[in-house]
Amino acid sequence: MPVTSRADAEALDRADPLARHRDDFLLPDGVIYLDGNSLGPLTRAARERVERALRHEWGEGLIRSWNSAGWIDLPRTVAAKIAPLIGARAEDVRVTDSTSVNLFKVLSAALGKQAGRRVILSEPGNFPTDLYIASGVGAMHGAELVLAEDVTAALTDDVAVLMVTEVDYRTGRRHDMAAVTAAAHAAGALTVWDLAHSAGAFPVDLTGADADFAVGCGYKYLNGGPGAPAFVWVAPPHQEAVQPLSGWFGHAAPFAFEPVFRPAPGMDRFLTGTAPVLSMSALDAALDTFAGVDLAVVREKSVALGELMIERVEARCGGALALASPREAARRGSQASFRHPNGYAIMQALIAAGVIGDFRAPDILRFGFTPLYTRFADVYDAVEILAGIVKAGSWDRPEFHRRAAVT
Ligand SMILES: *Cc1c(COP(=O)(O)O)cnc(C)c1O
Repeated sequence: MPVTSRADAEALDRADPLARHRDDFLLPDGVIYLDGNSLGPLTRAARERVERALRHEWGEGLIRSWNSAGWIDLPRTVAAKIAPLIGARAEDVRVTDSTSVNLFKVLSAALGKQAGRRVILSEPGNFPTDLYIASGVGAMHGAELVLAEDVTAALTDDVAVLMVTEVDYRTGRRHDMAAVTAAAHAAGALTVWDLAHSAGAFPVDLTGADADFAVGCGYKYLNGGPGAPAFVWVAPPHQEAVQPLSGWFGHAAPFAFEPVFRPAPGMDRFLTGTAPVLSMSALDAALDTFAGVDLAVVREKSVALGELMIERVEARCGGALALASPREAARRGSQASFRHPNGYAIMQALIAAGVIGDFRAPDILRFGFTPLYTRFADVYDAVEILAGIVKAGSWDRPEFHRRAAVT
């Protein structure tokens, strides 16, 4: 049923099986938030949990809380909540460090297993930190970072590792993880998947895709809060690989204080130093909003929200905004992106009007869909406001052209 009025959008919201989850989130009044793909919002659960971690666990428990409040186990207990979202076993996931740092670890581990091959293959449009880390790790291993638009076509017998982000951060283009992994394996390469724009957005099946390594972000669709720790997943056959950030939390017996590093068995060797307990606590509680949620239902609504956004922008913005995302829903993640030469200023005007998306250089306006709290009426209203700004040209004011540090 095409949505041609706000009443149509409201009808979809009334029939939405996920509608009751919106109350788990503390969204400010007067804001339509379409940037949960960049920073997930605060949940009620995280606010309460951080308050308790501060006052009770830290304030009263002091150092005893490492044991009594389970702080020491957080890299494993939080990982166990992420595992079902990514098609993984709990014991194969750890929550630790940042996505960038975890990429360093898994790329090093993968290269260490691929002696004789000297290429890390990725895409020019991959997220910059992934490319920067890969070139740094490559330099340490005598390997070269090679970029190709069509990575499967560029697989040669010199490729040690294929490193791809499943969903392109700019356009939202989604790879077929199983097919790309199979192509890499056929060429003798290992795969490193970045799930920054996948985990929590739709069902991911690392096990079914036979992937080798994966990393992902805690503060986007998982709502862990600014700078939340990231996760790392390693397929069991690779868990004995060496990762060079051999800190004491990756030791077989951290509290034996031995002078020589002995790696922990299994995934614990992918830990490095002390966990950021307050951030971990926020992420831990935020993940409870996914308990009992069927990600297939999340995906279905995400696709419907994306289709609505694209339809409405094309109907209402007079061709001013060009779709930058794949038109076919199956090839998109949970976002819709549009190009406009003045995209930055338009996005600033939109944010000033209460619709928060973001801008990615050089010309992309990006809108993320997070079905646990995004309503069809939000998308409808957002496009009405956007169309008003584009038609009136009200974005063309000096304050909307001024670039902030974070876009
Ligand atoms: C957000 C994002 C990151 C973030 O890395 P940090 O180390 O948390 O700053 C990495 N890769 C991709 C693809 C991302 O989208």
